[in-house]
Amino acid sequence: MDSKEENYINIVGAGPAGLTAAIVLAKYGYKARVYEISPDIGHRMNGDFQGLENWSSDKNIISLLKDIGIDINFLCVPYYGGDVHAPKMAPLEIKSEKPIFYLVKRGNTEGSLDNGLKEQALSLGIKIFFNTRFEGSSGKTIITTGPKRTDFIAVGITFDTEMSNRAVVVFDDKIAPKGYAYMIINDTLGTMATVIYRDRKNVKKYFKNMVDFFKNKKNINIKNDKKFGGRGNFFIRDTNVHNEKIYAGESAGFQDCLWGFGMRYAILSGYMAAKSIASGLDYDLLWKRELKPMLETSLVNRYLFEKFGNIGYRYLVKKFTKGNPRDFLKRNYNQSLLKNLILPIAKSRYKAEQTTS
Ligand SMILES: Cc1cc2nc3c(=O)[nH]c(=O)nc-3n(C[C@H](O)[C@H](O)[C@H](O)COP(=O)(O)OP(=O)(O)OC[C@H]3O[C@@H](n4cnc5c(N)ncnc54)[C@H](O)[C@@H]3O)c2cc1C
Repeated sequence: MDSKEENYINIVGAGPAGLTAAIVLAKYGYKARVYEISPDIGHRMNGDFQGLENWSSDKNIISLLKDIGIDINFLCVPYYGGDVHAPKMAPLEIKSEKPIFYLVKRGNTEGSLDNGLKEQALSLGIKIFFNTRFEGSSGKTIITTGPKRTDFIAVGITFDTEMSNRAVVVFDDKIAPKGYAYMIINDTLGTMATVIYRDRKNVKKYFKNMVDFFKNKKNINIKNDKKFGGRGNFFIRDTNVHNEKIYAGESAGFQDCLWGFGMRYAILSGYMAAKSIASGLDYDLLWKRELKPMLETSLVNRYLFEKFGNIGYRYLVKKFTKGNPRDFLKRNYNQSLLKNLILPIAKSRYKAEQTTS
């Protein structure tokens, strides 16, 4: 690397965290370069729908994205509820006055979040080097290379269907051990997937059970199905700055330990990484103030979710449908005295998963 190149802030990985960091840096007047190992953005996704969660803060996630300098130039559809299933009980319907999540498309497909962020970055003059592994070692670098290990896997299909728009969530260890399955339909396009935390070696069995469930219980017609899948990783460490390298997104362990809603963490931490460089603020202080309380609570939530199994799933489903589901989720995604007391037990339960290289 020559001295001229050292003026650039290097960003490794062109996922939501890396591209957000690049966009924010450019808006602060910095020169950023993004290095992506794959041939294009969104390589591990395949046009599947994902949910950008809108329950963990009072502020709407779309307003939050606009505040940090991200334009909504991608498909972004509010969902206000859906059907929830748990074993040995009739399905219940969730309804919320405010959107519970925003549907976004992932991968290198038209209208996807990944393409939207890429377009915003390119329009600000940021260079993205594809098929490139960053080898530089000097200068400020933001690392956003995604999951390092596997705490959960998600496998599913995208498909065409005549069914009307809907969202369905299923909690059942026979379909998604210690996780959940979901189906989202938007304008004749559908996504269904099972998110598996335990017994991952039997993924084929759970995938089949998931497809059978949606076919039998929801009478879904599936055409032109395409498979997709990936993994997720969560951990909490003391610092995310090592030798001038700032870690953001899932490569810093920023992930919703309970259910894997990691996009919000990825985008916000990418913003914080850029802001720390532009304003000289301590990155560790920023993420510890804004993200750590929720990360820790989500670890406790995962511990409790795994512990109570099907009985817990039924309790959860009933709670969702009583009162305001968004408020219920917000309360449970944020710190409480009880959860702070359980935190050391949850931390020791996931200790192996929490230690990183
Ligand atoms: C199937 C599936 C469904 C999901 N559903 C949801 C959902 O509904 N809601 C939600 O909020 N989250 C969901 N998630 C999680 C969410 O997708 C991730 O948390 C989020 O994409 C993390 O963003 P990131 O930028 O940190 O990492 P990534 O999106 O993984 O991006 C990292 C990038 O770095 C690149 N890279 C890796 N190593 C190198 C290297 N050495 N050099 C250069 N580039 C490198 C990778 O190719 C990749 O493009 C889901 C995940 C999966 C797998």
